[in-house]
Parts: sequence; C-alpha cells; structure tokens
Amino acid sequence: MLQLSNDSSFDTAGGMETGNLRDMAELNLSRLITTAADTIAAHAEELTALDQAIGDGDHGLNMKRGFEAVRSEAEAFSAKPLPEALKAIGTKLVMTVGGASGPLFGTLFMALGKEISAAPDRANLTGAFGKAIEAVAARGKSQVGQKTMLDVLQPVHDALLQGRAPFEIADIADAAAEATVPMKALRGRASFLGDRSIGHMDAGARSTALLVRTVAKTVGESA
Ligand SMILES: [Mg+2]
Repeated sequence: MLQLSNDSSFDTAGGMETGNLRDMAELNLSRLITTAADTIAAHAEELTALDQAIGDGDHGLNMKRGFEAVRSEAEAFSAKPLPEALKAIGTKLVMTVGGASGPLFGTLFMALGKEISAAPDRANLTGAFGKAIEAVAARGKSQVGQKTMLDVLQPVHDALLQGRAPFEIADIADAAAEATVPMKALRGRASFLGDRSIGHMDAGARSTALLVRTVAKTVGESA
C-alpha cells in the first residue's frame, strides 16, 4: 500500500535515498515541493527552448516562477491536510504560472486535492489522478493525442492502474513526453504551426514528466 503523509516532521531523506522503506513510502510534502521547485528551476532553460521551437518561449520562466512561489510557502502548505495542501498549491500555480499552462497545471493540482483523501492508498490516488486528468482535459478542451501534457498524464494513470512501481512510472512519463515529438499539435499555440509542430517535444509534456519523476523519486518504492 502506498501511504502518503504530509507530516513534515518525519524525516524521510535516508529512506528515500537508500530505498529502505518497506511497508510504506512516506511523503514529506515540504520536501516534495522543494524538490519539484529545484527540478523545474534546473530545467527552466530546456523548457524555454522547447517552447521557443513551437510556442512563445515562456514555459520555462512561467513554470519556474510558479514553483518558486509554491516553494516560498512550502511550510504553510505542508502543514495542511493533503487535500487542502494540493488545492492551495493549485490555486497558487494558477495565480503565478500564467500563460496557458497556469490554469492547466493549477487545475491538475486543485482537482487532485478535491478527490484525494488525507492519507490515500494507491486506489484512491489512482482514482483521484484520473479525475484530475479529466478536469485538465475539460479545462484545456483537449484530449490525448493532441501533443499536450495529457499525453504524459494518461500513460502515467494507466501505469498507476497497472500497479507499476514509482521508478517505472517515471520512465513511462519520460517515454510519453518523448512520444510527443512526432505528434502534430492540435491544441495550444503550437497548433497554429500545423505540420511544422512535428519533430519537437511538447514543453508541457516535458514539464509534466519532470514533475512525475520528482514525485516518484520522493515517494520511492512502495511494497
Ligand atoms: Mg508558452
């Protein structure tokens, strides 16, 4: 069973790095936020370059700004029950990321917070994640196969349903982002390019895969 806890007083660092957690993986939300903000910051230029190729080049800076804003309130967020924390993070992302991605990433976290329980098992997490994907699809009036973040989110949901391990799920997310390269964009600014959007990875798919790997690394293996 996957046991998520937002108890920031529980130091999971040793267990995460040595893989010693057996019966459960404890999630330290404050640590997760910090790691996510570090990851996005480290890849901001890459995300910008991807968005420059077929978009307006703002994705890296927008995501970095949003996750730095979340990081600045990491302690306050992690003091909340997990559903409230996720809703607050989503709201913060909507307010700070901007562009087209702000409402979409914000919706993902807000919808997840609406559906998840305070101490979710894998079934609850998987169900909540599925509902969150539906909310993102509705918000973006988009669907799988249109070269968007949904093309990473849906395979990740499938992998959760299949009971895949966190690190397998991270690899699946990376492969799914890579699989957006040959796709033709049908939503968002990249869709204005038509066939010229083919041959470039979708920036939102890439940032989604980065976040999935961050969560997988932080949660670690669950027995
Ligand atoms: Mg953009």
